[in-house]
This record gives sequence, structure tokens and C-alpha cells, in this order.
Amino acid sequence: MKCCYHPAYQVALPIGHPFPTAKYPLLKDQLVAEGILAPIDLAEPEPLDLETLELVHTREYLAKLESSGLSAAEQRRLGLPWSDALWQRSRLASAGTLLAARMALEGGLAGNLAGGTHHAFADHGEGFCVLNDVAIAVAKLRAEGVIRRAAVIDLDVHQGNGTAAIFEGVDEVFTFSMHGERNYPLAKMRSNLDVPLKDGVGDAEYLDLLQRHLPAVLDSARGDIVFYLAGVDVAAGDRYGKLALSEEGIRLRDQQVIEAVRGRSLPLAIVPAGGYAATRARTAELHAHAFREAVAYERAVNP
Ligand SMILES: [Zn+2]
Repeated sequence: MKCCYHPAYQVALPIGHPFPTAKYPLLKDQLVAEGILAPIDLAEPEPLDLETLELVHTREYLAKLESSGLSAAEQRRLGLPWSDALWQRSRLASAGTLLAARMALEGGLAGNLAGGTHHAFADHGEGFCVLNDVAIAVAKLRAEGVIRRAAVIDLDVHQGNGTAAIFEGVDEVFTFSMHGERNYPLAKMRSNLDVPLKDGVGDAEYLDLLQRHLPAVLDSARGDIVFYLAGVDVAAGDRYGKLALSEEGIRLRDQQVIEAVRGRSLPLAIVPAGGYAATRARTAELHAHAFREAVAYERAVNP
């Protein structure tokens, strides 16, 4: 399985900041150590140019990011202090998702070991999300005529509000979000299909709902490619999640998505999205499941 990774996915944040950017190298190291990824499977992206970013984001917002012009209020909403390293990192991570999508279109399956920053809107960032990498990848591939339609399966515990807003009224892009009803963002946007979940939902109910909706999502979307935001903040004990999935439940969820998408021979690009377990190592371990399950599926189909 080809995966994008760059050491600069990890960026320094103030001590005590809740966003665990150290999870990215840990995830990469773990997948390589397990033999899920060979070093040769790793592709290093180059930061995206402004022209590509402008397919989704406003010039005004990008100019602020380029020139450290985010106000204190804008940085609070983003939840991250602006730095040039953060700006470069956001462009790199978005490039990784675009490259992963290209590799998925070529080989069927690929991933980015960062990305899934679904709270970024066209004109602002919020909830730790600077740029909307999946939206940028979809917009770029559509602009090039490489794809016409896309499906976004967003199983991060938080609603993909930025993605939903960006693609509102775009019939060719189907957005599906299953998320905590009472969790951030409090004002939800409208995805093509939203499945709100009560606090405390566990494996059985979650997997049943997913099974019920996933085939119809893929049927309606008729995507030339599927993006999977495999957020692990659905795990029991997550700092922000409020749900109660077990580790096995997350593994089964990932397996369910991968089987449904790859079983239809649709190209699949996987991105980790959110996860805030007690330790970064634990977060990386939970993120590893999606990639592990994807490789297991491909190996079973093409032994
Ligand atoms: Zn999240």
C-alpha cells in the first residue's frame, strides 16, 4: 500500500497543546515496523501551490496564512497558533492527500499518514484544521478532469462541517458524516447524509448504523474515488469523543468500510483525521488499524 508521509507532518506546538502532532511519525514507524508498509511504499509530497489551494480556499484567507495575518480571534477559532511551520505543514499534508488520491486512482488503494482536516472552510480554519485537504484533492482532480464524482466517508467523531459546506450544492460530490450529535461543531452544516449519534454509543449500535447506511451512500455517490476519514476519536476514553467504541470496534469499522469500497473495486484514499487518546502512542496504535485492515484486505484478494 502506497502512503504519503513527510517528517514535517509533525510540527512544534506550545507545551500542553492537546493536538498530538507526534502521532504522525509514531504511526509511520509502527506501520513500517509491522511490515504493513515497506519503506519503498512511502511517498514524500511537495507543498501544494497557491493556485491549487485556491480551488477551495479564498484568496483572502490564503493571503492571511501566507503572511501570518490571522488575528488572535481567528487563531483561537483555529485552535492553533499560526507559524510558518504550521502553514508549510498544512500545505504538505494537503499535498499528501492529493498524491494519495492519485495513487489510489492508479493502484486502487493508497493513504496519507496525515490529513482529514475536515473543519476547514473555504474562508477560515477551525477545530485544528487549517486547509481542507480532502476538498482540495477532490476539487483538483475534478478540475483536471481526472474524476467527475467523489464520495467522502467521514467517520471522525466530529461532523465534517467544512467539507459539507464546501460541497453544498455540488451534486457530483457526496458527503457522508457519522458523528456525535452533541459534540463539536455545535452548529452542524448539511452533508448529503448526516448520521448523528448520541453520547456513549458503542460498537454494536455504531457498526449496525454504518452497515445500514454505507451501501446506499456508495450507490448514491457513484464516486470515481472514495475518501475515507478514519478518525479514531470515536474510541472510548478519547479526550473529545464522547462515544464508546472499543479498539476491536474500530478495527471492524475500518474493515467494513474497506470491504464495502474495495469490494466494489472503487479507488480508496485513506486519511487518519482525528484521535486524542491518553497517549500519542495509543492514538497512533488506533490509527494503524485502518491501514492494517486495508493491507490485509488487498493481500487476501491478491495473495
Ligand atoms: Zn475529530
